[in-house]
Amino acid sequence: MYELLLKGGRVLDPTQGLDEELDVALAGGKVARLAPRIPAEEAKEVLEVPGKLVTPGLIDMHVHVFAGVSHYGVDVDPGCLAKGVTTALDAGSAGSQTFPGFRRYIIDVCATRLFALLNISAIGMVTGMESTPAVGELEEIRYLHTGAAIQTIEENRDVILGVKVRLSSYLARDGQNERQALKLAREAADAVQLPLMIHTPDSSLPLEDILAMMKEGDILTHCFHGRRAGILDERGKVRGAVRKAIERGVLLDVGHGVGSFTFQTATTAMAQGIMPSTISSDLHRYNINGPVFDLATTVSKFLLLGVPLDEALKRVTTHPARALKMEGQIGTLKEGAEGDVAVFELAEGEFSFVDTAGEERIGHQKLIPVHVIRGGKIYRKGN
Ligand SMILES: [Zn+2]
Repeated sequence: MYELLLKGGRVLDPTQGLDEELDVALAGGKVARLAPRIPAEEAKEVLEVPGKLVTPGLIDMHVHVFAGVSHYGVDVDPGCLAKGVTTALDAGSAGSQTFPGFRRYIIDVCATRLFALLNISAIGMVTGMESTPAVGELEEIRYLHTGAAIQTIEENRDVILGVKVRLSSYLARDGQNERQALKLAREAADAVQLPLMIHTPDSSLPLEDILAMMKEGDILTHCFHGRRAGILDERGKVRGAVRKAIERGVLLDVGHGVGSFTFQTATTAMAQGIMPSTISSDLHRYNINGPVFDLATTVSKFLLLGVPLDEALKRVTTHPARALKMEGQIGTLKEGAEGDVAVFELAEGEFSFVDTAGEERIGHQKLIPVHVIRGGKIYRKGN
């Protein structure tokens, strides 16, 4: 007997090359069976989803959910799980000093499958330039501590999946501490053999210098920001160092955020063949009420830019699962995978989307979260 059966939806699972009408049965918290017309009598509960899009639960590679401690933090379950994001990666909200609280009060009690990157700064993103007083986490070199970061990671390997550093000159004493922060973050990531995620908008370092420190599996987030140290040169050409980094396995992540995604940069880069590996929201307090709203809206912006639906979905399922080394467990509807499923309406019409430069474009499709299943159980039942 299955516990839950989703009947009649359009199943789109890039890991299996599936785009067809299928029923999805869940049991024991896992995906149990995908087949046409599984009898309703075989399940305790049935969700009828004709006309809806059924996908693996989405994976957001960049969120900030240390609510109440980091000024960026939003509540994780309403911001992620309720919106179809069954797995999320908090990108450096906590550092070694604050991580125990992040684990105890957020990770261990939320319903979203939540992982974290540890900030190389011990204080994490407690404050920042948007809060009062404005204090960047790299302003004091004393905050950057490789030994403390390594110890915290070793103690929390089940949930910490990498290291994060935000290279922006205004967070680092007018850029003075950026090079040292990069070096220490690199050392910490190497010591624990985990990826390094780097944020570069408004870095005083040349992007070439930053990329030179990045290895296979590392993540360049905010890849389509239109600010200093971006992937395009002054003439709008993708820098050679970016292509070389991609060739050696550095991953580009969108990290939309409040200042880090412009249609212009994305269009210019994609026209030159540069596609992001993962599409992420960088959801936080300063963008959750726009221009980000949620990950599904960020995906819809790529549909507007002409990326096919299955290619866009790969970047919130297959690719992030691979980057997190959880292929086959999440981001897929293969039998035996975690029972994480999102059901969307793919609405057709005229929809306004705004980027972080304030540019508005009209899209004709929008992914709207309807139902969310996490570990085989219904978390949200929409209309
Ligand atoms: Zn971020």
